[in-house]
Amino acid sequence: MNFLSNHIFSTLKTIPQGSDNRGTGLLLQAGFIRQEMAGVYIFLPMGLRVLRNIESIIRDELDAIGAQEILMTALGSKEHWMTTGRWDQEKMDILFHVPASRSKEYALNPTHEEIVTPLMNEFVRSYKNLPAAVYQFQTKFRNEVRAKSGLLRGREFLMKDLYSFHETSEHLDVYFEKVREAYVSIFNRLEIGDKTHYAFASGGAFSKYSYEFQTELGIGEDTLYVCDACGQKVNNELIQDNNFICPSCEHTSAHTITTSEVGNIFKLGDKFSKDFQLKTSTKDGSNIIPVMGCYGIGVSRLMGVIAEIFADDVGLIWPKAIAPYTDYILVQCDNKKSAIQLALQLEKSGKKVLIDDRDMGFGKKAKDADLFGIPNRIVISEKTLAKGGYELKVRGSSVETIVQYDFDI
Ligand SMILES: [Zn+2]
Repeated sequence: MNFLSNHIFSTLKTIPQGSDNRGTGLLLQAGFIRQEMAGVYIFLPMGLRVLRNIESIIRDELDAIGAQEILMTALGSKEHWMTTGRWDQEKMDILFHVPASRSKEYALNPTHEEIVTPLMNEFVRSYKNLPAAVYQFQTKFRNEVRAKSGLLRGREFLMKDLYSFHETSEHLDVYFEKVREAYVSIFNRLEIGDKTHYAFASGGAFSKYSYEFQTELGIGEDTLYVCDACGQKVNNELIQDNNFICPSCEHTSAHTITTSEVGNIFKLGDKFSKDFQLKTSTKDGSNIIPVMGCYGIGVSRLMGVIAEIFADDVGLIWPKAIAPYTDYILVQCDNKKSAIQLALQLEKSGKKVLIDDRDMGFGKKAKDADLFGIPNRIVISEKTLAKGGYELKVRGSSVETIVQYDFDI
């Protein structure tokens, strides 16, 4: 259990002026994050707990499909970026070029094909090593001209990126589908599954299409066309001159929804394998160039999206699976012993408990409890103890119930 009296990052009376959006504003007000500069955020203890909980759901689902976690570097070698042609600002304008000593230059990686492909060159030499899939949680950098929308569009952000390597495109197709299903489970566990859509998007230089996971959000940066006949979603960037043609059923009428991109999955083909001369021997002894897939999820962006979706008039509301704590116990100091006993009991059943033992009035504590958005608010006071229990209120509901202790105080 943790005690709020030990917590140095206090809340603010109101949302700070100039906040990019309500979700980010509430995260600032509640002391979950601080802005270092435009598009660059610090995660404070409560915010970091949410971020780690999102990570842990993603890790769980990716481990289940046989991907292995590694941690690559934030700095990238100019040589590798030159090899793929993406050092060139014309090709990748968001790549940070970092000048270093002795006139050297480095990249601050916005994505990791240039790091993972040469890495795999050492290990993936035979068809027996395939399929191979590795992922990481890594801080990424984008040299955006304008960073806005709080956590939704940053110059520095936390991403999960997964890269897979396969003997044939058919093998890639099979793994691609597995990742898509893992993503659906992830977004369901984050409780945004019903608002998150799988959409066709531009494949850029690699293929005709890529695919995105887009979450409905009023302040989102993307527009999806939804086919009126089959419901297929298509990113606005694929629609030319307002002429919608459904890639699934060729129907020509659609309506639009505003969304924010939370994940994307790409079939990269052999572009990077070729650039780095990745070669794998096959069963019959010949050599092939493996094909690659890459799959991203914006972890810090998800935190911003979820904050924005669930917030109400008085504060944040976290889905249980990612809340910084499951239970918040509001206690006035003379009842602290009872609170600790209850917390121990709750922790035995897997709950994560925060005890608000700060030396301040009930009203201020209750206001902060609403702001934090922890699912269960428990109050222990003389009044509830007289009734033989504690008061339980679920965040987002107005019903307060007295729960009897099933153990001796
Ligand atoms: Zn259609």
